[in-house]
Amino acid sequence: MIEETGPDPRRKTVGVRIGAGQGAVTVGGTAPIVVQSMTNTDTADVTATVGQIAALVRAGSEIVRITVDRPEAAAAVPHIRDALAIKGIDVPLVGDFHYIGHKLLAEHPACAEALAKYRINPGNVGFREKRDLQFGAMIETAIEHDKPVRIGVNWGSLDQELLTRLMDENAVSVAPKSARAVMHEAIVQSALLSAARAEEIGLGRDRIVLSAKVSQVQDLVAVYRMLANRGDYALHLGLTEAGMGSKGIVASTAAMGILLQEGIGDTIRVSLTPEPGGARTTEVQVAQEILQAMGLRTFVPVVAACPGCGRTTSTVFQELAQDIQGFIRAEMPGWREKYPGIETLNLAVMGCIVNGPGESKHADIGISLPGTGEQPAAPVFIDGKKAMTLRGPRIAEDFKQIMMDYIEARFGQRNGADAAE
Ligand code: SF4
Repeated sequence: MIEETGPDPRRKTVGVRIGAGQGAVTVGGTAPIVVQSMTNTDTADVTATVGQIAALVRAGSEIVRITVDRPEAAAAVPHIRDALAIKGIDVPLVGDFHYIGHKLLAEHPACAEALAKYRINPGNVGFREKRDLQFGAMIETAIEHDKPVRIGVNWGSLDQELLTRLMDENAVSVAPKSARAVMHEAIVQSALLSAARAEEIGLGRDRIVLSAKVSQVQDLVAVYRMLANRGDYALHLGLTEAGMGSKGIVASTAAMGILLQEGIGDTIRVSLTPEPGGARTTEVQVAQEILQAMGLRTFVPVVAACPGCGRTTSTVFQELAQDIQGFIRAEMPGWREKYPGIETLNLAVMGCIVNGPGESKHADIGISLPGTGEQPAAPVFIDGKKAMTLRGPRIAEDFKQIMMDYIEARFGQRNGADAAE
């Protein structure tokens, strides 16, 4: 007998609370896997950054990271926080620091306070004795302001002294490893040694998230398996420099899919390069779709659609599937409040009679459109039973209305019941 399989149980990690207000989230522990994103605006441009953060949050981002690269950016952070509060947005903001983070945090206490978490790259905090001092200063600031940190190693800015030392040791070892294996070891050690140092200084383990990003799928899998096996720190998962379009989506999904299936990863970010003029929010949508496709979280109603074939020579069903999917995405921010539980809705838009009625019966609402040469009629199935047949040029509009009536009846009523209690 073939047994149903799902993701392995999550690896046990220490939960880290990020943020203090209503929008606070926990990364790790028993909390659901958190979706996060990063802006690509100039942080010193408060209006543009607030606008993009608002769009990312509307799309479903539960944490947003912003670059804090210079004094003007640090000075803007509290204003960004305040402008978001005026809009009713209370998302935890993470400051991304490199090179001069220790100075920026010390000289801009309002920035240090407005941020919900600091991201520190141990490969970019300075060299030799300065590295320890500057890393220590950032950790002390985090302790002072009671903020968690992410120790975020990136192979593009890996601690070169550590890598060189491990390479030298490997060269004289009796059983030398490959250069790639030594690099994996250096990435993992950089994260774990930095976390140990932060704990020595006094930062609790429940205030530390680790990440170790690389740009190749197999490297990411190897590195995160090592990290998960060597500690119980909460892990931020992501393939760095994933790339553009389908390449970036496929690479991120392949890498994260393997690790999430093994229970590794407490928060994810999909590092897509947007197409010129493309929406930054795509990375949030992809992250949600990865988690939802794997059965780890539910964010939006699912629209099952067949791929179409020689039986569907018109584009009617493609247009309807696209229309319904786009309509749901656009409406979801408002629907989340208005129709609690709506994300569990299942829809089916099918191209012909071969699999159409069968698939539609498995959905909450399904439509089987007429294929080439079939009667111009579209049976609609609700809760597994044929409810009606649509005909004529308004099939798409009629189906949308049926969907809205169903949503109102099933999810709107619950709203009413809650309000009456
Ligand atoms: S349901 Fe019909 S149109 Fe869709 S892929 Fe199957 S046979 Fe083709």
